[in-house]
Amino acid sequence: MSDNKSIIIVGAGIFGVTAALELQQRGHKVKLFDPGPLPHPDASSTDISKVLRMDYGKDELYMELMEEAFAGWDQWNEELGETVFHQTGYLMLSRDPMVPGGLEHDSFELLQKRGQPAERLNKGSLEERFPAWNAKNYPDGYFNPRGGWAPSGRVVQLLIKECEKAGVELHEGAAFQHLLENSSKVSGIRTTNGEDHKADIVIAAAGAWTPALLPHLQDLMWTVGQPVIHFKPDNHQDYQPPQFPVWAADVGRTGWYGFPAKDDGILKLANHGPGWSVDPFGERRVPADQEAKFRDFFAHTFPGLVDAPKVADRLCLYCDTWDGNFYIDFDPQREGLMLSTGGSGHGFKFAPMLGKLAADVVEGKQNKYSSRFAWRSRGDISTEEARFSDL
Ligand SMILES: Cc1cc2nc3c(=O)[nH]c(=O)nc-3n(C[C@H](O)[C@H](O)[C@H](O)COP(=O)(O)OP(=O)(O)OC[C@H]3O[C@@H](n4cnc5c(N)ncnc54)[C@H](O)[C@@H]3O)c2cc1C
Repeated sequence: MSDNKSIIIVGAGIFGVTAALELQQRGHKVKLFDPGPLPHPDASSTDISKVLRMDYGKDELYMELMEEAFAGWDQWNEELGETVFHQTGYLMLSRDPMVPGGLEHDSFELLQKRGQPAERLNKGSLEERFPAWNAKNYPDGYFNPRGGWAPSGRVVQLLIKECEKAGVELHEGAAFQHLLENSSKVSGIRTTNGEDHKADIVIAAAGAWTPALLPHLQDLMWTVGQPVIHFKPDNHQDYQPPQFPVWAADVGRTGWYGFPAKDDGILKLANHGPGWSVDPFGERRVPADQEAKFRDFFAHTFPGLVDAPKVADRLCLYCDTWDGNFYIDFDPQREGLMLSTGGSGHGFKFAPMLGKLAADVVEGKQNKYSSRFAWRSRGDISTEEARFSDL
């Protein structure tokens, strides 16, 4: 009797698409549902760029997971027919000398322990190698050559093609409305166009929409809006690698991080902060006072960009979990329901591993990461400390 399952996945962002591809390739029958168009314009995964880095303070599990994910990104650069991992390196700078307990210090220490070729920088070497920076404000930090960015929306688009090639049944334009349940067993979904679809397992991978679609999760995860602004400096070549890689500016304390200008001249700046609680189905607007804050940051750190024209902004949504870790596991209260969600602002970079993690759960296989993403109730002390792994 084959162990292959029929599986419904709700949501075709990076968590859903990678699970669909891996499960279909392992022989399961997968149906993927999303209101579309795909990649969905409001999805968190749909953006011009996401940071790929392994620098996670003293959290060795995420660093190790990212080491494996980087090997996957290298492979995708070979297999997907275009460059999806732009390895510019990752610049992690501090506004004060790096000290134990600080994100920069602890990341650098762990990188060295794991034999990663990160190079310590000081004001002089920063000025010389990365001249766009106002070096006097960043006396310490390091450059990790193993890091960069991915065109996230394009990656989702390419993986959806891989899903269709693999035989995933794509239901673009069909949105999940509610679960089909008899007593506590989930047997499928009803879509907003009134159709019922049955399956052995339903995987909820609807990102920031998940707690709204499954309200019983609202104690564990919620939707938070974060600001992103695109600028178009005249001299965008000055803000391109190697002199301008992906960077983080004392991010543990300021939230500022950003990207090199793309060849079309667009330079993205983002801030990871407390954000705003938003309704995922509601209007998304970057508060009017944000542009001034973004320009104040430029004045402090990249004076050459302070007057760069703004060309777009976006309120992108996190599905924030209470401890900052993903949920990739079955719901213990609802047999047949599984989650792969809770990216908490840092999930995209693990794309080459996310599908494997979800498929292992479906097949009841343990791996060295399972316990971090396993179902846990709020307040489980063991995961409480992990909160600093954001971004
Ligand atoms: C501002 C910002 C910056 C970020 N920067 C980074 C970064 O630099 N590096 C990094 O690693 N991560 C980053 N992240 C996090 C990353 O983007 C997310 O963790 C990841 O993209 C989440 O993917 P997802 O598949 O869970 O959700 P999404 O990509 O949002 O996909 C959810 C899907 O569910 C679908 N859906 C919604 N409702 C329904 C329904 N009723 N039925 C069926 N489908 C439905 C949507 O259409 C969508 O396609 C950032 C996030 C934000 C918001």
